[in-house]
Amino acid sequence: MNPDKDQIRFECTRCGACCREDSLLVTVTGRDISRISLGLNLSASEVIRALNFYLIEGAESPEGLRDIPAINTEKGPAYIALKKLENGDCLFLKDNLCMIHVIRPMVCMSFPFTFLDDGHSKTWGLSAKKVICPGLGCGPHVENTELRDLAIAVLEDLAIYQEFVTEWNKNEKNPTANAILEKILSDSRFTI
Ligand code: SF4
Ligand code: SF4
Repeated sequence: MNPDKDQIRFECTRCGACCREDSLLVTVTGRDISRISLGLNLSASEVIRALNFYLIEGAESPEGLRDIPAINTEKGPAYIALKKLENGDCLFLKDNLCMIHVIRPMVCMSFPFTFLDDGHSKTWGLSAKKVICPGLGCGPHVENTELRDLAIAVLEDLAIYQEFVTEWNKNEKNPTANAILEKILSDSRFTI
């Protein structure tokens, strides 16, 4: 991990701001989808109602989403994320609490940290600033071992999803949203 940033303080204040921030997409991996489907007992055609497919506009991925692969859909490449309400709230936020806390997506578990593996080393960064996340700069220093363990979990989850998306984008001729969900839920790599 990059040692120059090791002295960061963070303690979640449970303010819920990250669950209400319109500009933050709650992207999901195959394991996230599988975990939510299993936890809520939802089939592919049911879990799809909790998701949105955010189509990519232009050739470049938006900043902050470069390590999440875009999956081919019948309308073009898209990021899969949890649905947001019109006011920007996550679908699963109720009375400022996460209704799926124990099965929430990895991006929620690791927020506000992001991780990158460039093949040589693992580095971390922040997906939000203090203006969004008041927990940054508060509480105890985040231990390097804590970040390392989180990095391993996040990057493994991401690598498996990237592998799946690469195969899907190469092979799938009829990439409907429902077909994506069915394929994810039947793929043993995402079995929880
Ligand atoms: S914005 Fe930060 S402090 Fe607030 S709930 Fe999210 S992670 Fe916790
Ligand atoms: S899944 Fe839960 S933790 Fe994640 S954004 Fe939605 S309400 Fe917040």
